[in-house]
Amino acid sequence: AGSPDLKRAQALITTTPDFPEPGVQFRDISPMLADPEALRVVFDGLAAPFAGQFDLVAGIEARGFLIAGGLAAAAGTGMLAVRKAGKLPNPDVRVEYDLEYGSAVMEASGDLRGRQVLLVDDVLATGGTMRAAYDVIAELGGELVGSAVILELDGLGGRGRVPDCRTLFRM
Ligand code: AMP
Repeated sequence: AGSPDLKRAQALITTTPDFPEPGVQFRDISPMLADPEALRVVFDGLAAPFAGQFDLVAGIEARGFLIAGGLAAAAGTGMLAVRKAGKLPNPDVRVEYDLEYGSAVMEASGDLRGRQVLLVDDVLATGGTMRAAYDVIAELGGELVGSAVILELDGLGGRGRVPDCRTLFRM
């Protein structure tokens, strides 16, 4: 987050304490995405390290969809939605993963054999979500060329689970 433009973009991310549960600092990229200049520098910054290396952008439900769609359209690639449980008829893959309390399931469909995939989401916290999405891409036959998030939250262990994930901002 070096340039003044990126610093300005980062400052548009809002923090709401104790949402959706007590103790969680909820980080919302929505005001940043609503700002045309911020959206441009953030999307450019996310995709730049992977320029020319991917032909599909996968986004994790739900805010990852916004990012994946934008990056895919800008780069002229396809996109893939990695869904939460129960949204897809007959999903090709189903990956269960641990949450802080309990577990969740991620699903997707498609033949990704021969595809070079860039995987994106808004926030990296414990890394469980991103890790599960890696497995989804692999099980569909795709080659993961990289992963990136807009914001990494320090101290939650995400870096350890997905050491290669690129991060634009850190808090
Ligand atoms: P995790 O699996 O713990 O890395 O959680 C990452 C996923 O949960 C991402 O899809 C985020 O959108 C969401 N998330 C987790 N923690 C937060 C937070 N503090 N603020 C906003 N989104 C979060």
